[in-house]
Amino acid sequence: MTRLSDHFSAEDLRCSCQTCGGSLRISLVLVGMLEEIRYYYNRRVHVLAGYRCEARLKELKRSRKSYHGLGKAVDIHLSGISSQDLFDFCRGFKAIKGLGYYPEQDFVHIDLRDQKERFEFVNLRGEYLPLTGDLAATYGLKMVDHAAAASA
Ligand SMILES: [Zn+2]
Ligand SMILES: [Zn+2]
Repeated sequence: MTRLSDHFSAEDLRCSCQTCGGSLRISLVLVGMLEEIRYYYNRRVHVLAGYRCEARLKELKRSRKSYHGLGKAVDIHLSGISSQDLFDFCRGFKAIKGLGYYPEQDFVHIDLRDQKERFEFVNLRGEYLPLTGDLAATYGLKMVDHAAAASA
């Protein structure tokens, strides 16, 4: 078991496919965030997906540009904590530029894409829907006024 931090090991974050046999590429900034999330909630963070190799992305029919394929994304879930709450907590990390809620599978996706503005979305049946007030209300997510936050 290769430890990456106090509570996370390579096994938690490596690719889950047979083809590569569990290769790993992961941003330690992300691992640090996982530790902070674990610390804040004082619970185990279930990593549903970390790194995905090219073969795995192909198998899932995902874009080669996936942030999982760059080691810059994780899908997480905490038992006993709503994903809506987790989503809102993750807003506190400035480096998270991609933040998604997957209501059907009940998890939160966070990534470190290289862009200024954060992209918040709800993923429904594989579609990335930018978070709007309507979607937030439908899925019980808090809405943040980015313009107001930026000028504050
Ligand atoms: Zn793989
Ligand atoms: Zn993801």
